[in-house]
Amino acid sequence: MSNIIFKNVCKDYGNTQVVKNLNLEINPGERLVLLGPSGCGKSTTLRMIAGLEKITSGELYFGDKLMNDIEAGERNIAMVFQNYALYPHMTVWDNITFGLRMNKLEREEIEKRAREALKILNLEGLEKRYSKELSGGQRQRVALCRAVVKQSPFFLLDEPLSNLDVQLRNSSREELVKLHNLYRPTFVYVTHDQIEAMTIGHRIAVLNKGYLQQIDTPEKIYNNPVNIFVAKFIGMPQINILRVNINEGDILFKNNRIKLSDEKRKLIEKRSEVYLGIRPEYVKVNRDKTENSMKGNIAKIENYGSQKCLLITINGEEKVMASVPNDSDFKRYEDVYIKFSKKNMLFFDIATENNIEMEQ
Ligand code: ADP
Ligand code: MG
Repeated sequence: MSNIIFKNVCKDYGNTQVVKNLNLEINPGERLVLLGPSGCGKSTTLRMIAGLEKITSGELYFGDKLMNDIEAGERNIAMVFQNYALYPHMTVWDNITFGLRMNKLEREEIEKRAREALKILNLEGLEKRYSKELSGGQRQRVALCRAVVKQSPFFLLDEPLSNLDVQLRNSSREELVKLHNLYRPTFVYVTHDQIEAMTIGHRIAVLNKGYLQQIDTPEKIYNNPVNIFVAKFIGMPQINILRVNINEGDILFKNNRIKLSDEKRKLIEKRSEVYLGIRPEYVKVNRDKTENSMKGNIAKIENYGSQKCLLITINGEEKVMASVPNDSDFKRYEDVYIKFSKKNMLFFDIATENNIEMEQ
């Protein structure tokens, strides 16, 4: 297995730059997820790895081999797209093993690989069916099988689960991880779905408008987002971003004074204003006033199943979202007191929107 390295890679279509000075190293055997909104350059990045798009400037390496001018067919890559196409005149078994037979692999090896993949993807028993006799989800799994049996050192996937219904997507995520563990290729997975990114990736690379924003583990991306864009893109319900004043190292928010830990205070005491970021699960809601708490009123309640989200107005205007267990009995228009968990407050610069703690 080898790594994939982008060095100052740019991709233009005419006058539009779609990938901007990308520097990224994907480790051998790692599951890396490219995450970002539609149009941010994910597929283009993946297609440059596959050799399906020419690189405008910069260098792409596999290990120490420069790949810029190597043909797609010479790159030893397995790839699965959102719109996969199976051979309609072939059975499931033939679709999966066709490439291996063409490569004259030994029959026993072909059988072994195909059986393993069919088992992980719950396709056993369907070997003799034709593509038209399968559901959409089953077809997509056959496409995954066909790619994985190649055992290429690089496995590239472009939104392969987007066409599936929610339940199937949930179970498929687990299966993808099992597929990867079969022989641990370098795995690059494109998605706009943050849950998929968090559950599949060893690391996540977040892209926005052609720029790499941050690359790190799911935990770090969630808890230490590099800027407001990343903070908002990850996490559902979304993080609260509040514009607040600083006074003698305390936060002033709508006539409330919020004391900080010494560590957090040091970060911001020299400023007059910052954006305070706090995730809804770190906003504590109480019926009784406690030290450092702020009075608010519940404007709206959204039920997310696993939790309820309270939209709380402070001083009748600014809104703060708090998540509470589903069985809590808060009522709409009720007065409550909220408190932000000290260690989970994030601070962003007003001008750059970058995480102040990570700029140090
Ligand atoms: P993503 O996969 O993140 O949704 P893409 O990598 O497909 O985004 O596209 C990035 C940007 O490049 C988009 O704005 C898209 O319109 C543009 N683009 C993609 N392919 C072409 C092309 N062949 N010609 C011109 N523009 C393109
Ligand atoms: Mg795409």
